[in-house]
Amino acid sequence: MSRHSGPSPLTETSRVPSVAVIGAGISGLAAAHRLRTLLGAQARITLFEQTGLVGGVLRTESLADRPFDVGAEAFLTRRPEVPAMLAELGLSEQVVHPGDARTSVLANGRTVGLPARTVMGIPSTADTMGELLSADALRYMAAEPERALHWEVGSDVSVGELVRERFGEEVVARSVDPLLGGVYSGLADSLGVRATVPDLADALDAGAPNLLAAATAALPVQQPGVPVFGALRGGYSRLTLALEEAAAATARLSVTVTGLGSDQQGWWVDTADGSRERVDAVVLAVPAPAAHKLLASAAPSASRAAAGIPLASCAVVGFAFAAQEVDAQLPQTSGLLVATGEPLHSKAFTHSSRKWPHLADGEVLLLRASLGRFGDVAALQADDAELVARARADLEALHGISALPLDTIVQRWEGGLPQYGPGHPARVAALEAGVAEHPGLAVAGSMLHGVGVPACIATGWAAAESVVQHISAGAR
Ligand SMILES: Cc1cc2nc3c(=O)[nH]c(=O)nc-3n(C[C@H](O)[C@H](O)[C@H](O)COP(=O)(O)OP(=O)(O)OC[C@H]3O[C@@H](n4cnc5c(N)ncnc54)[C@H](O)[C@@H]3O)c2cc1C
Repeated sequence: MSRHSGPSPLTETSRVPSVAVIGAGISGLAAAHRLRTLLGAQARITLFEQTGLVGGVLRTESLADRPFDVGAEAFLTRRPEVPAMLAELGLSEQVVHPGDARTSVLANGRTVGLPARTVMGIPSTADTMGELLSADALRYMAAEPERALHWEVGSDVSVGELVRERFGEEVVARSVDPLLGGVYSGLADSLGVRATVPDLADALDAGAPNLLAAATAALPVQQPGVPVFGALRGGYSRLTLALEEAAAATARLSVTVTGLGSDQQGWWVDTADGSRERVDAVVLAVPAPAAHKLLASAAPSASRAAAGIPLASCAVVGFAFAAQEVDAQLPQTSGLLVATGEPLHSKAFTHSSRKWPHLADGEVLLLRASLGRFGDVAALQADDAELVARARADLEALHGISALPLDTIVQRWEGGLPQYGPGHPARVAALEAGVAEHPGLAVAGSMLHGVGVPACIATGWAAAESVVQHISAGAR
């Protein structure tokens, strides 16, 4: 029985409804599951996925015989979607939270604690920035309210342009870039204020007199006593596999969709194996370049909008070390973000066994390095062995860790994260308006309203509800 609002399941007397969901990342899986809930057991739901696995960027592999997430590893608890989905699937008991270890930043050769009270690294006060910035940069930043702010309501610029102008280059390189590198695999200069830090843009629109005040207004509100992040014991694949099972869709794995369109009889989906499936509706939950291609003839204006959303690539290198060999050397922090310009290959490290108590078993110490950012193509032009070697060289340079790992894993995410450049919300509005002209078609995914798992789930649910409304209207 559905716990959600929206159209009620179609009656058993109606014709069996059919929907194609293209892309089996979390967005497509959330859509398929919601479709099953809303359309009932009889509905024909087909899930097309070009790889052999469901989950997309959510993937759990085995590292030294332990489940280890090589894509996303966590979710923000202040959004309701993941807890609601886990409750629906009976997985709430599997939620785990990070321990108390803090994150640090490496900047100008020094490792310091990640400053508190920032919005994606954009400071709301000079008080927390003293360790990270030079005295000159700190003074310039603290005096920001004395300089007149020119902000045009509704405008959009890159985060880099705004922060550099108000606070100076050091704040961009040492505070904002490391944060954005982690979340978007991007840089302050490749990401727009309005989509990346929407609350900050809203505060500026509302008349915040300076950037410090805008950042103060935009600080995330966390319920006291509730940890900021959650994760799943056993890894994200637990969620994606449970969703796949509950959605009870016909999964067509290793099948690439090559085209879609509609005619008098409804929608059709063509695949690379030469088959055509006819359905009542389509949910497209693929990255922007694939959406651009697949919407080209079905929804040309939406296709053009999708073309304006570039992707960033990155790689994750997972390490399992014998705990006794590295425990003394690895700092007791949850991880390290690397400022722009530091002489390292990696942009971040997660000290997984320090961050997540459930991954600390005293025997094996797990950690992961992230490499590659938007525009830095060279970072990933190396084979797996070379990526491992580069991350190990960084660990040696940082902490003197030269132990041989017990196990390693390399996961590349080619185009894994969309870049929300300046003007992104307008592009998404054009994309969604173009799709809305075609009843029975809906889009979902990280290219739209946030790259985080909760935001992706929200788009999957909304897409499912939209096509169910179309089907219900047709059945009446
Ligand atoms: C390294 C990394 C770490 C991250 N960490 C976090 C984190 O800790 N917390 C968090 O909230 N978010 C994190 N994110 C972001 C989040 O994981 C992603 O934004 C989200 O999982 C994207 O889901 P999606 O379903 O929209 O897209 P995807 O996962 O990209 O799924 C799209 C699917 O469509 C398939 N597809 C594409 N074209 C076709 C076609 N023509 N036919 C059939 N199938 C097709 C693809 O194969 C893919 O499986 C991270 C991202 C990365 C890359």
